[in-house]
Amino acid sequence: MSDPLSLDASNPRLSFSRLLGIDVPQITTSEPRILVVDDKQDLLDSLHELVSLHGYRADKALGGKAAMKALRKSAYEVVLLDLIMPDVSGHDILDFAARENLSAKIIVVSGDASFSGVKHALHCGAFDFVKKPYSAGELVATIKNALRQVELEVRKSQIEQELTHSESLHKFLVHQSPDLVFMLDKKGRFTFLNDRLESMLGYQRSELLGKHYTELVDEGHFDAARHVFQERRSAERAITSIEMKVKNRLRRKGSKFLSEPTSWMEFNTEGIYLNPDERTPENFVGTFGTGRDVSERKEHEEKINFQAYHDLLTEMPNRTLLKDRLDMAIAQAKRNRQALAVMFLDLDRFKLVNDTLGHTVGDRLLKAVSKRLKNCIRDGDTLARFGGDEFAVLLPEVKTRDDVAVVCNKVLDNLNSPFKVDSHELFVGASIGISMYPEAGDSGEALIQNADIAMYHVKARGKNGFEFFSEEMNHEFSTRLILERELRTAISEEQLVVHYQPQVSLETGAITGVEALVRWQHPIRGLVQPTEFLPVAEDTGLIIKIDEYVQHRAFADVAQWHKAGLGDIQVCVNVSPAQLEQENFASRFESILGAAGIRPELVKLEITENVLMRDLEIVIPKLNRMRSLGVRIAVDDFGTGYSSLSYLQRFPINTLKIDKSFVHDIRADQGDASIINAIVAMARGLNLDLIAEGVENRTQMRYLRSQGCKQAQGYLFSRPLPAAGITNLIRDNRFSDLVGHAGLVTVG
Ligand code: C2E
Ligand code: CA
Ligand code: CA
Repeated sequence: MSDPLSLDASNPRLSFSRLLGIDVPQITTSEPRILVVDDKQDLLDSLHELVSLHGYRADKALGGKAAMKALRKSAYEVVLLDLIMPDVSGHDILDFAARENLSAKIIVVSGDASFSGVKHALHCGAFDFVKKPYSAGELVATIKNALRQVELEVRKSQIEQELTHSESLHKFLVHQSPDLVFMLDKKGRFTFLNDRLESMLGYQRSELLGKHYTELVDEGHFDAARHVFQERRSAERAITSIEMKVKNRLRRKGSKFLSEPTSWMEFNTEGIYLNPDERTPENFVGTFGTGRDVSERKEHEEKINFQAYHDLLTEMPNRTLLKDRLDMAIAQAKRNRQALAVMFLDLDRFKLVNDTLGHTVGDRLLKAVSKRLKNCIRDGDTLARFGGDEFAVLLPEVKTRDDVAVVCNKVLDNLNSPFKVDSHELFVGASIGISMYPEAGDSGEALIQNADIAMYHVKARGKNGFEFFSEEMNHEFSTRLILERELRTAISEEQLVVHYQPQVSLETGAITGVEALVRWQHPIRGLVQPTEFLPVAEDTGLIIKIDEYVQHRAFADVAQWHKAGLGDIQVCVNVSPAQLEQENFASRFESILGAAGIRPELVKLEITENVLMRDLEIVIPKLNRMRSLGVRIAVDDFGTGYSSLSYLQRFPINTLKIDKSFVHDIRADQGDASIINAIVAMARGLNLDLIAEGVENRTQMRYLRSQGCKQAQGYLFSRPLPAAGITNLIRDNRFSDLVGHAGLVTVG
């Protein structure tokens, strides 16, 4: 029996030609031809007759010369040869046959029965010898014998041909196979590897032959490898399939997710047993197998898997993965009676960046932020991006609130310094809400939700800080829902009122216009300021109705003042992003304006800077339509966004309103180096009016005027008042003294 571990062509299991049904050319032995040779005509005839009688096709050759001629011409299986002939003898024919390598079996039929003659004839290649006078039975038996020999030889050469053919074929197939083909001995050492090894994995065959398979298999997959390469002796199925990583010498192009030089391979293996019917350990001699490179598919799968659990922008875990880990951490904390914390983090001012500088800058900022955040946490913590500018951190190993506070302070500190994105210097803060297990909830869901609620509280208290969740917060949160419901009632039952704040000329003290500001006359709580209910109105879209109501009311009041003989009072109305974004904004606004019947020149829209930057192609035409009616446009809270001079030039605006935060920063000893100087220069360059808002004292007023700002609004002149209060102010024209007096002190 052949060695089961070598690739043996005679091993029927591997006889690929048979498996594939490939035909090897056959030599036919169906109609044997016999040549009868004698120099005596009568003997020749009788011999021929005898042979023919037994059903063989026979030719006659009278003498040696004729025999040679016949043998040259055609192939015979058997020759009956007379030895003693004149001129060309039987011996000569035997020599000729040997020389020409004829395959014919030559049976010598001769009266020369001397030992030396026979010996010589057999020596010269005769197949057998029949003595004259022959018996017919003996002669025919000898012919049959010779023919069987011929047949055997033909079959043998046929098989030989078949074997060489199938061996080269299977060698070809094995080596050309797109798969790695290999054999291991019973100890797991390679005894065969096909040519694919080199092109697939970059090894020379000699490097691995005789070596254990662990030379090839990646450390992480030894267990899986042992299962298919060694411990499959008792397995029921003959072929086992498994995927594992192997060390690859070739670094594949474009492999992103598997940066280390390994390949994923799918192996199909079959144990080899001395007796295939007895798959016992004693019978086990090794393993035969094939391996296919499935790295591409694996990478694809890994990518899809990665995408399901990660945020693609920052490559950080996503909500799903955090949730999984949180559930696990809770289970562990429960067992060990330990605490854990969830931080919910929302960036302050991110929306502004995204809206004004675009998504590309926004995305880069988010990446930079996540990098800094990562530096603030430890290995066992999980930092996840929840989408937008929301992040969550799981701290599974904290013990006390102080531990969490340390992390929060670190995060806030880290975010404090500006981010440089492209040419921009961006400032972001963060509002962090924290929920701790077990006091703030015992499920992942509850902890995340409560951390989120705590975060809202930080936002409401002025942002950039952190707070721990408490039950009271939950109560307040539910009041948000109540607030929304009540606000809907407020709109339908007209509980909203409009107050007006005068805008004053810093040169004459005259009231140049008023800003309409909404308030809520709540049946129980009294007058509610817009900062308390506008965030909910914005979240729910109710803001559009509110804006339209305020505009309707304000235009009616302006018409009223005109009727009362107070002259033309200009009114500024705030336009929320949601209102401006409405597709039919312009036509709705026109109809509100038309209903009041006032001149459009008396109306000024206040639009915040970041809204302008949002969607130029959509915003600009809307504003142009407003301008063509005669309506004016002011940029509210100017200086808090990121708009540049070139940007502003593209909008049809009339006025910049200096944000009150800059006014608030004005100090008595201030020189010229303030943001206000820059804004004033900008307004001058763009030929725009300026109004300063939030002016609370004379220092501020003087400084603004000294810089060339000609109008102002603020508590120094008046708080926002109901329409009746404004009527009185306009009648009295009370501010000329205030302005004139101040003017005497500073100017001149
Ligand atoms: P805003 O448009 O910047 O309005 C100016 C705010 O500054 C008003 O607050 C005003 O009362 C306040 N203010 C005026 N003078 C001073 C001052 O000297 N010092 C300080 N610290 N504040 C001063 P208010 O009325 O609470 O409104 C807050 C914001 O709510 C407004 O800011 C505006 O953005 C929004 N808002 C108010 N009414 C409406 C409205 O009808 N529609 C829309 N979309 N937004 C409105
Ligand atoms: Ca305003
Ligand atoms: Ca403002």
